[in-house]
Amino acid sequence: MRTIHESPIFNLARADKHGFEVNHPDAELDQRPLGFEERSDIGGMEQTTEIEVVRHYTRLSTVNYDIDRGIYPLGSCTMKHNPRLNEAVAADPTWRDPHPYWPESSLEGHRRVMEELASDLGEISGFDHVSLLPAAGAHGELTAVFMIRAYHLRSGNPDKRTFLIPDSAHGTNPASAAMAGFKCKQVKSGPDGYLRLEDLEPHFNDDVAAIMITNPNTLGIYERQFEEIAQALHDLDALVYMDGANLNAMMGYFRPGRIGADVMHFNLHKTFTTPHGGGGPGSGPIGFNDKLAPFAPEAENGIGPVKAYLGQWGMFIRAWTYIRSLGGTGLKQASEEAVLNANYLRKRLGDVLDIPYDTPTLHEVVFSDKNLPNDVTTADLAKRLIDYGIHPPTVYFPIHVKGALMVEPTETETLEELDRFVASIRSIILEALDEPDRLKTAPHTTPVSRVDEVKAARELNLRWTPDPRRI
Ligand SMILES: *Cc1c(COP(=O)(O)O)cnc(C)c1O
Repeated sequence: MRTIHESPIFNLARADKHGFEVNHPDAELDQRPLGFEERSDIGGMEQTTEIEVVRHYTRLSTVNYDIDRGIYPLGSCTMKHNPRLNEAVAADPTWRDPHPYWPESSLEGHRRVMEELASDLGEISGFDHVSLLPAAGAHGELTAVFMIRAYHLRSGNPDKRTFLIPDSAHGTNPASAAMAGFKCKQVKSGPDGYLRLEDLEPHFNDDVAAIMITNPNTLGIYERQFEEIAQALHDLDALVYMDGANLNAMMGYFRPGRIGADVMHFNLHKTFTTPHGGGGPGSGPIGFNDKLAPFAPEAENGIGPVKAYLGQWGMFIRAWTYIRSLGGTGLKQASEEAVLNANYLRKRLGDVLDIPYDTPTLHEVVFSDKNLPNDVTTADLAKRLIDYGIHPPTVYFPIHVKGALMVEPTETETLEELDRFVASIRSIILEALDEPDRLKTAPHTTPVSRVDEVKAARELNLRWTPDPRRI
């Protein structure tokens, strides 16, 4: 398998070629400003011309796919449009310029925006307390897990060391619990995709510290036994964590803090339209009730700060703007349309793709590759979508669905864009019947085709290192 660094679009240098020479014999550039000295440690670069370098970077900037280019239906990731109003407000020098080391008196406006945002998130989720500090969803989980540990330790229950985690939970849930030293016990969900109290009960004992429930779960299904399950956990003196990354499905309809959750995280970079992906900053505030308030990062004897300065300020001001530009009814409508769009895709594609669970779903829909012809897999379908100019949905997740293809269109896509997605999938399935090899070798339109994805994730290499043979 070829890496991008070995591809012809990347490596333009040739030993017999030279770009502009700053020390050309006829030039009078001996007064060269600092920084324009010739460098000899950038192997290959001096063997290209200026225009090649300019075109190289311009071209590279266009090979990535982004939400500003088309639908980005990654399930569970809520890849919404980022309204430009948010950006304009965040870029206002009043908000952008102050340094967090400035005296508190000059940050009054910032503090007020943060208080209002925390209060809005509390109202949306039904929690009396919100900490804005955590820098991402997984970081919010970890913060909450530390608070849960502190709660049990201070209540004289150091033996509560087990977290119950359904198989429909997001992968970050067991990771967060394990990082804080808890044991994780996986609980199977029922045949229709719901988590059932009867499947949890065999795991109930004095060791249980908490449950982490993703709701709606990773199949997009609302956990209808949520309240009973929360009650049963409280009877064990255990706590209930709700993974709220999928809040986009139910703003204005479901307030976790009012029906049994003790703590949850929000993803401002999902539900509340702050930019997302590419390694940029996220923001994962948590909401919690009175039981956990003494252990909050901001509390006097709490777990301590989890982020420096104000936290991810740039995300706060964007989410604050978004909430204010939609208002309560607008947020509720956003959720309704997110659910409508997902169910539109479910309906339009249900005759050509297998739907493993018949259960009604909210903001996302999980298909599988069970009925695809000629041994075509989810990976083949996803790779071929790239040739159609569409970012693939989430693949092979959730893990309890074999060959899963998880689609979350979000409310910000138009009917035309949803139809383009449907038409592309339908056309690819026709190709799978007639020309399966075209799928198995896809994508054909990218600089590199199939990459070693495990290696790419485990040994991520974002740095170009000069080829020593060329220096
Ligand atoms: C995205 C997501 C997370 C993790 O959030 P990050 O901000 O990526 O750390 C956790 N749970 C669910 C269900 C998610 O979709």
